[in-house]
Amino acid sequence: MSGIYIHIPFCKQACHYCDFHFSTSMKKKDEMVLALAKEIAMRKNELLDSARSDNEIETIYFGGGTPSVLSNDEINFLISEVYKNYKVVENPEITLEANPDDLSAERILELSKSPINRLSIGIQSFYEEDLKMMNRAHNSAEAKKCLEEATKYFDNISLDLIYGIPGMTDEMWKQNIETALSFGIPHISSYALTVEPKTALSKLIQTGKIAEPQDEAASNHFMILVDTLQKNGFIHYELSNFGKENYFSKNNSAYWLGKKYIGIGPSAHSYDGEKRGWNIANNSLYLKAIQNSELPIETEILTISDRYNEYIMTGLRTIWGVSLDRIEKEFGLEYLNYLKKQSQKFLDDDLLSIENNILKPTPKGKFLTDGIASDLFYLNLEE
Ligand code: SF4
Repeated sequence: MSGIYIHIPFCKQACHYCDFHFSTSMKKKDEMVLALAKEIAMRKNELLDSARSDNEIETIYFGGGTPSVLSNDEINFLISEVYKNYKVVENPEITLEANPDDLSAERILELSKSPINRLSIGIQSFYEEDLKMMNRAHNSAEAKKCLEEATKYFDNISLDLIYGIPGMTDEMWKQNIETALSFGIPHISSYALTVEPKTALSKLIQTGKIAEPQDEAASNHFMILVDTLQKNGFIHYELSNFGKENYFSKNNSAYWLGKKYIGIGPSAHSYDGEKRGWNIANNSLYLKAIQNSELPIETEILTISDRYNEYIMTGLRTIWGVSLDRIEKEFGLEYLNYLKKQSQKFLDDDLLSIENNILKPTPKGKFLTDGIASDLFYLNLEE
């Protein structure tokens, strides 16, 4: 099974913390939709050509950027191009990332009649001051209203929440989670506010206009999040993702389980089981290349240590953990011994545990997963 990711590189305005690829000018939107359709067609044999034979499309994911800036006709057109060019399973998961300011009652009704069957809504916070500070395009009333409407027509909804926002107390964070839960949605993705270089947020912090996010506050918020969502029947299946039974994101789970995917659009990434590819992160250059029938993609073949490192990172971040049997089978005894040696201090500190030969972070180690994983990476081996 494979997935198609379609990157829509437009946003109404730039959120202060964001370092994704997007443009706030919609001038090239029409041209872009045609180019995306052309890339979908140009790459139709890619999955067939790659080493594996499991080439049916199981998930289609519109990410961005802000995919909800496209009209329903444009979205439906791109979905039909996927169907035209690929073999798609009977009930694929088709997700649209959408922002609350694009989700009026009429728009949600229209979307519910389209092939889109999962919405991922960028709520981020229900507090007006947080939304303003982050320069989100929506307000708190729109966040609540769109969830009220969306839950009438969609049962598979995810929402995003950001924690560790400067000034957000534990009580405020609890309230944000409770508000999200009050809509009865089955999936939540939640990330700590991070300060990426060259973002407006980084400049605002440097000039003292916004306080720096504090690790301790973020760590407390994370613990509150895990505890509250687990008490409410959510499974913490990936470090930043929580889903009720049968509502895990199939698209994202496929990435984490190492399945193949094709990334369409500027900056989109692809993986065919052996190599990674990434499209140029520039709308004009992307359009020019596709219009000349060239794929603006760079690729790299993954080395054994690249694949080992990726497995360590995704394994530790997910409920599935890192199988020591798989490490030995796929990467060899040298890697297994290295992993055992590197993990020992974390096992001694109760940050990692091994059960049924599966290595996982303990509850105490969860928030530190990314740092622990990087200590387990294989860096010095000659390929
Ligand atoms: S809407 Fe999403 S992609 Fe666009 S600027 Fe905000 S966070 Fe970034």
